[in-house]
Amino acid sequence: MAVINAMETVVKQLFEEFRKNYELKCDCVLCQDDILAIALNKLPPRYTSSEKGHLFVKGEYTNQQLRSDVMRDLMEASSIVEHHQHHRD
Ligand SMILES: [Zn+2]
Repeated sequence: MAVINAMETVVKQLFEEFRKNYELKCDCVLCQDDILAIALNKLPPRYTSSEKGHLFVKGEYTNQQLRSDVMRDLMEASSIVEHHQHHRD
């Protein structure tokens, strides 16, 4: 497999959970991608070249503190996208 940023998987998974508790003002694909991109730019990348490494990083994010760090960045990113209307209909 290629080199991947395992943080991307973590953020995408937690974004699904985040959306269960938080209603996005606009949940179109463009706005969702903007939110993910903003959150991923704030969080440290975790590059890995193996499935084992990928699983290891995912495992770390069962930790409550780390999860809440990601949730906080997703919350900030959502509010940035909501207030700046990144997309045009
Ligand atoms: Zn949108």
